[in-house]
Amino acid sequence: MQAVAREKGLYEHIQFNTEVTDAHWDEESQRWSMLCRNSAGETRVDSNVVVFAVGQLNRPMIPTIPGVGTFEGPAFHSAQWDHTVDWSGKRVGVIGTGASAAQFIPQLAKTASELKVFARTTNWLLPTPDLHDKISDSSKWLLANLPNYSLWYRASMVMPQSVGFLDDVVVDLDYPPTEVAVSARNEKLRQEISAWMEPQFADRPDLRDVVIPDSPVGGKRIIRDNGTWISTLKRDNVSMIREPIEAITPKGICSVDGTEHEFDLIVYGTGFHASKFLMPINITGRNGVALHEVWKDDDARAYMGMTVPGFPNMFCMYGPNTGLVVYSTIIQFSEFTATYIVDAVRLLLEGGHQSMEIKPQVYESYNQRIDQASSLRAWGFSKVNSWYKNSKGRVTQNFPFNAVEFWRRTHEVEPTDYHLS
Ligand SMILES: Cc1cc2nc3c(=O)[nH]c(=O)nc-3n(C[C@H](O)[C@H](O)[C@H](O)COP(=O)(O)OP(=O)(O)OC[C@H]3O[C@@H](n4cnc5c(N)ncnc54)[C@H](O)[C@@H]3O)c2cc1C
Repeated sequence: MQAVAREKGLYEHIQFNTEVTDAHWDEESQRWSMLCRNSAGETRVDSNVVVFAVGQLNRPMIPTIPGVGTFEGPAFHSAQWDHTVDWSGKRVGVIGTGASAAQFIPQLAKTASELKVFARTTNWLLPTPDLHDKISDSSKWLLANLPNYSLWYRASMVMPQSVGFLDDVVVDLDYPPTEVAVSARNEKLRQEISAWMEPQFADRPDLRDVVIPDSPVGGKRIIRDNGTWISTLKRDNVSMIREPIEAITPKGICSVDGTEHEFDLIVYGTGFHASKFLMPINITGRNGVALHEVWKDDDARAYMGMTVPGFPNMFCMYGPNTGLVVYSTIIQFSEFTATYIVDAVRLLLEGGHQSMEIKPQVYESYNQRIDQASSLRAWGFSKVNSWYKNSKGRVTQNFPFNAVEFWRRTHEVEPTDYHLS
């Protein structure tokens, strides 16, 4: 990224360590006015177009457990890791077993004297034997030296991944749904993954019931694994606690059965405020309407995850319902989104328009289609708790179709979808 920024002369356009706190649409000038704050104070920046590329998974979520903050030792969220803390020989409590926890727990377990993992639910593992393999020298040589090799290599990864195993998580209404499967294909995948996990429990059958999820594959974030997860849980110094947490105490964590687990360090692997899109920026569109009122706090919607009626010339990257979980990568989706936004700016410039605003009916029918499809995917159909859903249970995260569909709808802007002025 640094090389690209240097090569394309981007540095001179970037204001680092600056937070946008407020943005409002000015009808008279047909521009956005943004309030930017940094150590030097506040400044206003006006622009014809605003693109919010503020991510979804970077505002740490600490659960509202009684006693949070009373623990006397060090405690931090995985995204705010305190690198001054040495956990060697220490008793460590971890809350959470999601994608972040699955990556840092094996590292903590290597040297902690005792590690207890508090697990509300567990995740399916996707067998990925080469997960931690290094890229070989010969591959690196080919990528660097063989003309077009990197493009073919990329295509060989991207093409199958554009569809991934989405079909395995689609609900079949003719299949009698169970707690653990939404279709015959989904059940087959569950059995395949279970068969890969089973031998790993041969010497620890007690772990099977606490590790194998009781929800369908795809209901929650699937975690790629090469055997590291279960081998970590089998270590003598590691245990998994499925009792819900009652409170954080000055000495540790108290579970509902009344046990107080004492620790020297607590790490929160509790995820992010994923559904609170564009928080905490105050965004005001046409007629003084606040975006977060339109979105009712955590019920964000947008056309293609990018545009909202009443908020002209405003685009989001990685916006509502653009998460991808069983196919593609954020890189591909970000590229598609950027392509669309550039095309929108081109449309404004070449057409001599001052503003473009998505038509309400286009936005509504798109979101109806998203919600309908989401309810027929394992993550929307299953009652399992996940960060894909907002506080009302609506899926605000995932794009329920495949990446080819996203590309088809984003490779150019359809001008009739917009009011242009
Ligand atoms: C542990 C972890 C693992 C992940 N693994 C994968 C993976 O394997 N594959 C995948 O596809 N996705 C993965 N994701 C999802 C991840 O969110 C994206 O891959 C990626 O980081 C999103 O990029 P982004 O640029 O949209 O947002 P971010 O990387 O979150 O960047 C947003 C930037 O905007 C800045 N910002 C926010 N608000 C403001 C403001 N008001 N003013 C100014 N700046 C602001 C932030 O400081 C940040 O620098 C993972 C996420 C996490 C947390």
